[in-house]
Amino acid sequence: MSHALKLWPLLTGSIRYEKTLSTRNRGHGEFIDAPILAYLIETPNGRILYDAGCDYRKVAEPTLCVRYFDPMRPQVEPPDMREGQRIPRYLAQPGLAPSDIDLVFIGHLHFDHVGGLGDLPGCEVHIQTDELAAACTGLDGSVFADELANAGQWRIKTGEYRVAPGVYAIASPGHTAGHMSLFIELPKHGPVILCGDAADLSENLSEEIAPGCCWQDNEVLALASIRKLKVLARREDAELWPNHDMDFFRSLPDFPAWRD
Ligand SMILES: [Zn+2]
Repeated sequence: MSHALKLWPLLTGSIRYEKTLSTRNRGHGEFIDAPILAYLIETPNGRILYDAGCDYRKVAEPTLCVRYFDPMRPQVEPPDMREGQRIPRYLAQPGLAPSDIDLVFIGHLHFDHVGGLGDLPGCEVHIQTDELAAACTGLDGSVFADELANAGQWRIKTGEYRVAPGVYAIASPGHTAGHMSLFIELPKHGPVILCGDAADLSENLSEEIAPGCCWQDNEVLALASIRKLKVLARREDAELWPNHDMDFFRSLPDFPAWRD
C-alpha cells in the first residue's frame, strides 16, 4: 500500500493579526482571524501529526500570556485557545492518547506550530537541521526559546524524505530557514499538500504573494517555495491546503470527520 489512510485537520485555536503578516506588503491595517491548525494523519505504519499548535499554558495563564504575547501587540493579538482544543482532547474522542502518535512532524518552529509539543510527551519529533539552527539564534521573535528545550531529543533531518507510506516531507523554505510542507497521498481524494506557513492564505498561492515575515527577509526564496508547491500540485494532481485561511479551513471536514 503506497498511500496514507486518513487525514484530520484539528483546529487547535485561532489568532487575530494584521494581514500583512500573511501577505507581504498587502493588508496594512486590516486584521484577520486565522485558524491555528495541526493535522492528524493515519498511515499503514502508524499515526503522524503535522505541527502541534500553541502551548496552552501560555494562552491560559494570564501572567504567561502577558509575558509572551504582549510584545507582539498591536500587530498580533494573543491566541484564542480553549481547553477542548488541546491535541490530547481531540485524540481522546476516538479513544487515542498521545502515546498513540508515532511521529510529530514539525513544519517550522514558530510558537503556533511547536508550542503544543508539551502536551505530547515522549513522541518522536522530526525537525530540519536548518530550521533548528535558525531558531536557536534567537533572532526570530516568533520562536519561544523554552519551546526548544527538548530539541536534544528530536530527530534532526536534512532535506526531503519519505516520512511514511504515502507521506513525503517537501522542503519549502522562506518563511523560515528550514520550513517543510507535507505531501500526503490519500486513497479516495487523491494527494493533498499541507503547505504549512509557506502559504498562509489561498491568496498566497493564487496570486503568488510571499508571507509577510521571511527568514533573513528572503522573499525570493519564499516565492520560489510557493511556485515549487504549485508545480508539484499540478504534476501530481494534488490539492494545496493553505495553513491559516479561515474560509479554506471551513471547507474542510469537521473533526471527527476526515478526508480519505
Ligand atoms: Zn503559523
